[in-house]
Amino acid sequence: QSTVESLDTIWMDGEFIDWDEATIHVLTHGLHYGTGVFEGVRCYDTEDGPAIFRWGDHLDRLYGSAQSFDIELPYTPEELTKATRELIDRQHLDDCYIRPIVFYGYDHLGLNPTGSPIRTAIAAWPFGAYLRDDGLENGVDVTVSNWRQFASSQVPTNAKMTGGYVNSVLANLEARQGGYDEAILLTPDGTVAEGPGECLFLVSDNKLHTPALSEGVLPSITRESVIRIARDLGYTVHHESTISLDKLETADELFFAGTAAEITPIRSVNDIAVGNGTKGPVTDEIQSRFFDIVARRTDDYGEWFTLV
Ligand code: PMP
Repeated sequence: QSTVESLDTIWMDGEFIDWDEATIHVLTHGLHYGTGVFEGVRCYDTEDGPAIFRWGDHLDRLYGSAQSFDIELPYTPEELTKATRELIDRQHLDDCYIRPIVFYGYDHLGLNPTGSPIRTAIAAWPFGAYLRDDGLENGVDVTVSNWRQFASSQVPTNAKMTGGYVNSVLANLEARQGGYDEAILLTPDGTVAEGPGECLFLVSDNKLHTPALSEGVLPSITRESVIRIARDLGYTVHHESTISLDKLETADELFFAGTAAEITPIRSVNDIAVGNGTKGPVTDEIQSRFFDIVARRTDDYGEWFTLV
């Protein structure tokens, strides 16, 4: 997990303020009822300087998520982009994680948020490997959670809302308490969904499979990137179907993909080795291509980057 160190600035409601001053009232609506939307974005140190990966797509998702709560963002995408660039610059960051969040603030308490102020903040801090230090190389151990993914009839699963993360936190806690690095959540129907904060890919017979968005998984930007990268490498990718639980056991390879997790191989599920229990060749090829792309060691996919 990342630690926040030697940072001094957060952008909040239009201003750069001291890290320690970026506080909220204890009766904030979003704190009580989970009425916030957020993003997790990575910025990479590249030969062209710090470059934010798929910033425009993350902003699109943020504005889309906000609509679910009738939140009208008080800032334009251009204003958020300017704020983010300056935030990275002011803190002399290169490789970092960016967390924009928008939520109903404090005015009155009660479920109806109408009239509560819309608060907007962006933080950025250095961020390494997410799930475990050697996870990118050696893979992670996961367990299938007893908690289920929300169905799209329960929460708008295509929105990244703070309240939607309660079962992600429960699943992650359960996994950690069992000695695993991370969980895999199933849909309410018992088919494979995703990790608490990552989407999931299976490799079988050299083909990639990931659950359809209709399974209630987040429209992950890394998922979409992996689909494109894998196809450009010549792989067939199936992303329109349901994946049954037994497919996890028979997969040749499994990996998580997400902004924080990047491309993390999964080496075991419920103590049973995936493949031979190490990073598989397809995962390895996609992972190295991904890291070449985000480091801008290739001119391809240039449209994915916003330079700071
Ligand atoms: N699924 C969930 C539940 C997530 O929280 C995340 C992280 N945002 C992902 C998948 C991966 O999405 P992305 O690639 O857009 O980071």
